[in-house]
Amino acid sequence: MLSESPALEINVRKICENTYRVVEKCHEAGISVLGVTKGFSAIPEIVTAMVAGGIDGLADARLENIIEMRDKGFDQSMTLLRIPRLSNVHNVVKYADISINSEISVIQALSQAAKEQGVLHKIILMVDVGDLREGILTENVLMAARKISGLQDIEIIGLGTNMGCFGGILPETENLGLLVYLGKLVENRLGIRLPIISGGGTSTLRLLENGEVPDGVNQLRVGEGILLGTDTTNQRTIPWLHQDAFCLRVEVIEVKDKPSVPIGTIGRDSFGNIPQFVDEGIRKRAILAIGKQDVYIEGIIPADDTMKILGASSDHLIVDITDSEQNIKVGDEIAFSLTYAGLLSVCTSKYVTRVFKEANLCL
Ligand SMILES: *Cc1c(COP(=O)(O)O)cnc(C)c1O
Repeated sequence: MLSESPALEINVRKICENTYRVVEKCHEAGISVLGVTKGFSAIPEIVTAMVAGGIDGLADARLENIIEMRDKGFDQSMTLLRIPRLSNVHNVVKYADISINSEISVIQALSQAAKEQGVLHKIILMVDVGDLREGILTENVLMAARKISGLQDIEIIGLGTNMGCFGGILPETENLGLLVYLGKLVENRLGIRLPIISGGGTSTLRLLENGEVPDGVNQLRVGEGILLGTDTTNQRTIPWLHQDAFCLRVEVIEVKDKPSVPIGTIGRDSFGNIPQFVDEGIRKRAILAIGKQDVYIEGIIPADDTMKILGASSDHLIVDITDSEQNIKVGDEIAFSLTYAGLLSVCTSKYVTRVFKEANLCL
């Protein structure tokens, strides 16, 4: 890289401390924690911070990230968090210890692949308790578990559910209780043991704080809370975690006073939308060297709350700085905090440099 801007500043100590706090609280309740690495493309320095904070295993939605973590020497148990592609079962079996699943045809293919490689592949059967993303409907769980338990080279180690992702459904004592109940039903009817009941991610931490996670739930898969100290599904910050482990810094490339309404006939913007403007007179605007190619614009928030993002094209971000007390000039940097969606996007952009702070980890 020729320049360190835009830069994602990452405080690995704060991520380590967040991990430690989540792990401590979960362990007190008999719950193990998978550190979810997809939110930051499994950047190894951050994975190291999660490991130092005591996570019980690593989990990612992308097999590519799991392979990279294996290559970097992480020897923790790896769980694949996106249900596998039928076309990719050989690699799933080769690189992931555990995968989450909801399709019998895929599980059969995993079984075949495991046989060919001479390994035992473990799966968690996903149950849809209402969010309507992945998972078997509750009434079909027993039948599916019966089919899976008859397969060679596959071990069903538990049931899991996902919430707060597609349907925005909150984890509650009732829907998690249903998962626990189904686990017991499968154990009793099929005479097998299901050591894991995996009860969601960050959004379940709120229940944990209130002592409302039903007995029997013994695993959470946590990303957002550890990284950002926020819980988007419950619309809250988590008071016992750091919210500022990440900061995006972007350089200013133009500062000018301009009218707030464009001049001329309005067609479409560069993304095909018809823009609309409110006339606020002449405003002081900064253009920053980042754009929609790098970042989900709705997912970044100026650290100076008097600044307002006006919009962006593929490579330019336009910010109203009229009300800021900082005397922003060309060449200065403006700082932003990130939402989970913002973090995902900047970690995926090859144009954003990563700068690590407080690398001596936690506690
Ligand atoms: C992303 C993901 C998680 C982590 O969710 P957070 O809200 O970031 O804690 C957990 N489980 C599955 C299946 C996921 O895809």
